[in-house]
Amino acid sequence: MSQNVSSLLYIVSGVLFIMALRGLSHPTTSRQGNLYGMVGMGLAMLTTLVGHPPAGLGAWMLVLLGLAIGGGAGAVIAKRVPMTAMPQLVAAFHSLVGLAAVMGAAATLYAPQAVGILENGHIHKESLFEMALGVAIGAITFTGSVIAFAKLDGRMSGKPIMLPQRHAINIAMGIALVALIAIFIGTESKAIFWLIVLLSFALGGLLIIPIGGADMPVVVSMLNSYSGWAAAGIGFTLGNLALIITGALVGSSGAILSYIMCKAMNRSFISVILGGFGGDTAAAGGGQVETRPVKQGSADDAAYIMKNAERVIIVPGYGMAVAQAQHSLREMVDLLKKDGVEVKYAIHPVAGRMPGHMNVLLAEANVPYDEVHELEDINGDFPQADVAFVIGANDVTNPAAKTDKTSPIYGMPILDVEKAKTVLFIKRGMGSGYAGVENEVFFRDNTMMLFGDAKKVVDSIVKNL
Ligand code: NAP
Repeated sequence: MSQNVSSLLYIVSGVLFIMALRGLSHPTTSRQGNLYGMVGMGLAMLTTLVGHPPAGLGAWMLVLLGLAIGGGAGAVIAKRVPMTAMPQLVAAFHSLVGLAAVMGAAATLYAPQAVGILENGHIHKESLFEMALGVAIGAITFTGSVIAFAKLDGRMSGKPIMLPQRHAINIAMGIALVALIAIFIGTESKAIFWLIVLLSFALGGLLIIPIGGADMPVVVSMLNSYSGWAAAGIGFTLGNLALIITGALVGSSGAILSYIMCKAMNRSFISVILGGFGGDTAAAGGGQVETRPVKQGSADDAAYIMKNAERVIIVPGYGMAVAQAQHSLREMVDLLKKDGVEVKYAIHPVAGRMPGHMNVLLAEANVPYDEVHELEDINGDFPQADVAFVIGANDVTNPAAKTDKTSPIYGMPILDVEKAKTVLFIKRGMGSGYAGVENEVFFRDNTMMLFGDAKKVVDSIVKNL
């Protein structure tokens, strides 16, 4: 296959990736978006295989074996993973992208003749630069993603861990990394290459360890962005247009998503990216669990209150996802609507454990899209609502985000549920949410707690309706 044909096919796959991103931006078109992405990736792989066929049967076997193991494992994992474990799965997959960038750069360094980057027996300086940058970002992504996985999967505390002198250490390591990259470009030394890898592994861990609970969604998307830039760097070294396009798309979309989430949580993008800068307030938070009395109600009470309401706003959160209560919830809403109650859903941008988590679950239960509203569109409606029905959400309704400067969630916009006439909270007990802080709304006069598993409570409300 000529160079021109393969470049053209790579551009076609790039266009398919852009169409995939466009499709994934809305639940109605997301399946189609996924399909475009799959076709684009299939085309890019085929073009690479036909354009640069593996040399000999052994190499073919290795490629096919890699495809079978990777594809097989991916399919099994994707089928089995519960929706609630998706963020840690994404983090785990990013770690593999980072590791692939490290392996790709190492392979290129050890066999530069295979990718045609040699001149007079030496590797081109620009290729050495791309390789060093790609491997550094790849290694940072690898350990950073492993730590993010451990935190999200509960294998490591989600609380920020503040290492002494961490800013000074990070800056010193950053400077050392730049110096090593410069030496590597000058000397082509394999030992320096591996030092870059080791230092970047350490830096990746140190950057993510201080980042705590509420900032984790941003971290996952930021690591996504890093993994894209690492792939693009290696794409330049290998002269692979598809890798450059895909890497740049992943890199920029991840960066844009991180920025949007930072705005949604009122965090500074720079402070999150630099790993815990300004996170000291977060570390100081984590209020004590109180034992004040709360008003407790039954499913019967909740059914009565909602049946007699005119306007109900539903606020879903992580607990709804854990309990898989979305189908029962839809059933409950259908009954309320039959009784003439106006029902809307309010979605906080970081409700649940990944961006769009609640939208996906509600779409799965066939909740009409026009009933689902984003925070800024619906927050003004709470004062007119008779009932705010909070199902398994906590942090995203916590007014401490507005009033308590020492709180880890201070500055995050919240859904103003306490402004509704009555607030119903479904949760199993008085446990705190992801950020580990007490929610003052539980103790308000207009709040009624409905203790129990979200699905079971909603099922019994349905019976009482
Ligand atoms: P949350 O603050 O974590 O609270 C969830 C609540 O659900 C808990 O207080 C828990 O209380 C309750 N719960 C758990 N299992 C339940 C069950 N089976 N039935 C009923 N209730 C159950 O959730 P959120 O309000 O959705 O806020 C999301 C938090 O996660 C934010 O702090 C956000 O920053 C963080 N985060 C978000 C993302 C993202 O991208 N969306 C990613 C990572 C982290 P009980 O134990 O008392 O039942």
